[in-house]
Amino acid sequence: MAERVGTEPSVFTRILRGEIPSEIVLQTDDVFVIRDIAPQAPVHLLVIPKTDAYRDVTEVAAGDPKLLASMVEVARTAATQAGATDFRLIFNTGAGAGQTVFHVHAHVLAAGQQHEHGVAAPAGLDERTMTGGMPDGEEA
Ligand code: AMP
Repeated sequence: MAERVGTEPSVFTRILRGEIPSEIVLQTDDVFVIRDIAPQAPVHLLVIPKTDAYRDVTEVAAGDPKLLASMVEVARTAATQAGATDFRLIFNTGAGAGQTVFHVHAHVLAAGQQHEHGVAAPAGLDERTMTGGMPDGEEA
């Protein structure tokens, strides 16, 4: 079920408030990091702004580019903390691309279940999307 910001707190806001259990593995003033509940790789973290003002990466890029830069920096730190030097950073953007929580977040995937295209796709994304294809069999 997709979530929408504005009607009720997102699952991530509820985690930040302590209403839903999840270990915050790293945080700054603006950003926090949790482990994905349904990991698609040995390292699968979510980097999340503490504000829920932005639904997706396009909104945060337009509205607060410094916050987006902070998310990327925190992703780097969190991956290093998890023992990964290289990682994949994914922003599912829109329901058609597999986004289910409309509180912008970055997936950090590393040392994943290797297949011919690298780390396995996160929940909601298929292999074609990960490799640049369009979802649902559409062509660009
Ligand atoms: P997306 O599909 O890109 O919107 O990503 C949302 C992610 O949030 C999915 O990978 C879910 O597995 C993850 N998720 C949902 N609920 C929780 C939770 N309570 N704790 C940790 N991760 C969660």
